[in-house]
Amino acid sequence: MAGADLEWLAAYGGKGGACFDAASAPADDKAMREQFHYVEKSADASKKCGGCAFFTGDAAACGTCSVFSGPANGGGHCDSWAARS
Ligand code: SF4
Repeated sequence: MAGADLEWLAAYGGKGGACFDAASAPADDKAMREQFHYVEKSADASKKCGGCAFFTGDAAACGTCSVFSGPANGGGHCDSWAARS
């Protein structure tokens, strides 16, 4: 994980068990996540961030999403989910 990503996680992630903290995130990032219906817990066990092509990091914890350029929960989901090949 790149240094900038780790800074992002430290600033906005990991609060209250969530990887993404909407309360402290920049408004544009929050709006984009709302647009793509990002959730910390996927309703579909077969489509979690941890198995998404855009996710890097620990699938059992918090990682980084390249679509949002910020933290994502390994168990999360959004409309841009794509199976990792
Ligand atoms: S694109 Fe969506 S599903 Fe994929 S890692 Fe990012 S937030 Fe998770």
